[in-house]
Amino acid sequence: MKYNDYVEFDNILPEISFNKVVDETTKEGIAEYYSLLKNEYLTAVLNPEAANKELLECNNKPNFAECEIICKVTNFCNQRCKYCFDKNNQAKPKIVLSKEKIMKLLKLLHKKGFHRIEWVWHGGECLSVDKKWFDETCFEMWKYSKENNFEIIFNAQTNGTLLDDEWIFILDKYNIPVGTSYDWSGQSNRGYELSKEKLSKFYFIISVITEENVKNLINDFKIASKNKVPFSFNFVFGNSEHQTEDFLNTTNLISEYKKYLDYFLYNNDSMITERSVVAVINKILNRPADVCNLGNCLLSNRICINSDGKLYKCDDTNIQEMYICDIEEIEDIDEFFYNPKIHQLLNIKKKQFKEKCLYCEFSSICCKGCINCTFRESKGEEPYSVYCHFIKEIGPYIYEKLGNLTPEEFVKLNPIVKQQLIEKLYLPAYIKEEIQKAYDEYYNI
Ligand code: SF4
Ligand code: SF4
Ligand code: SF4
Repeated sequence: MKYNDYVEFDNILPEISFNKVVDETTKEGIAEYYSLLKNEYLTAVLNPEAANKELLECNNKPNFAECEIICKVTNFCNQRCKYCFDKNNQAKPKIVLSKEKIMKLLKLLHKKGFHRIEWVWHGGECLSVDKKWFDETCFEMWKYSKENNFEIIFNAQTNGTLLDDEWIFILDKYNIPVGTSYDWSGQSNRGYELSKEKLSKFYFIISVITEENVKNLINDFKIASKNKVPFSFNFVFGNSEHQTEDFLNTTNLISEYKKYLDYFLYNNDSMITERSVVAVINKILNRPADVCNLGNCLLSNRICINSDGKLYKCDDTNIQEMYICDIEEIEDIDEFFYNPKIHQLLNIKKKQFKEKCLYCEFSSICCKGCINCTFRESKGEEPYSVYCHFIKEIGPYIYEKLGNLTPEEFVKLNPIVKQQLIEKLYLPAYIKEEIQKAYDEYYNI
């Protein structure tokens, strides 16, 4: 089955719920999983009503039950990392987002009916704000959520240098796990080191990939596994002074990524969570992938509130074209979600698609990469080149390895990958072909 057919075949598959227990450790267990899943799909697909599944752009299904708020509570950061994308904001005098603006946003989200709000404290450096102020603000937000019967899940992304016992006490009080992005392999980009003791306090560490550590992906994964730290990596972004390529050569990235992928896919020694590769696999196999630049962030329920109260779709608030509206100016959160500026941005993506992507075999799964990056790189004229190059190289590589796995091949995979594939209802190409045949026969095609 060619890649395009593999992906487009999903369009005839209706939603099903599959809750069978699968023994993913034996080839018999996987053969049974394939067979059960095939039967479930056949039952659904041969029902004409179910076959009328509506297609939604880029697998994004608008869902106004949950949302994610990136709260850049201050523009200030106590560090000066070379590759920081937030340099412009940090060059301004320190601002702390007011409690009133935070509460206004929370109330508008509640009014819209969101019943689960994931609130990420972000910056600048979020632990550089006053502790008492932070404690009181979290308390007021938590109290409001309890009184109004919705869930607020806090989370924080910090550089870790200011984390002390007082902060840990406050963060624990509101059940706020702390993630950090960090340079593994002793890079010099960050300009600071965190002690081992401090690193152990983080629930998630994102390794930022630059030219200095791109060759260490496998080794860094091993270090993370040994320390039982969930591992993820982000390719470095550019900033107002530099393009991504100034920090990381795309060809090197792709070649090292392939080596890491080969290692990771068959690594059976570790059960730590890994997000980066798993998300790309999901995307290439046309499954939902929970990383912003693999979906269409413009259609997501994500809002970033900057320390000055301006609202964006993205936590990189340095690109003026991405500014949507000001929290002070709106009385309904739909004024953000349905803002004409979001339509303008979507039109830029559509234009890129029409002019650059129409005949690309990845056009139906690729969301043309990060829109912020296209503004930085080409003023929105071209899809983001690093991402485009990456998908065109990595897409066929992943499809060749994972697109048509027999049960014998499936059982050899890394347990994390197996778990993910089963959770996302993976179907190998040959089972899709069998369903297609039954479908064609039934409808006399
Ligand atoms: S710690 Fe983060 S926010 Fe601060 S300068 Fe470094 S990359 Fe930027
Ligand atoms: S603009 Fe880019 S970085 Fe920002 S949310 Fe969208 S994909 Fe992610
Ligand atoms: S891989 Fe490149 S050309 Fe293909 S759809 Fe994505 S951005 Fe467009």
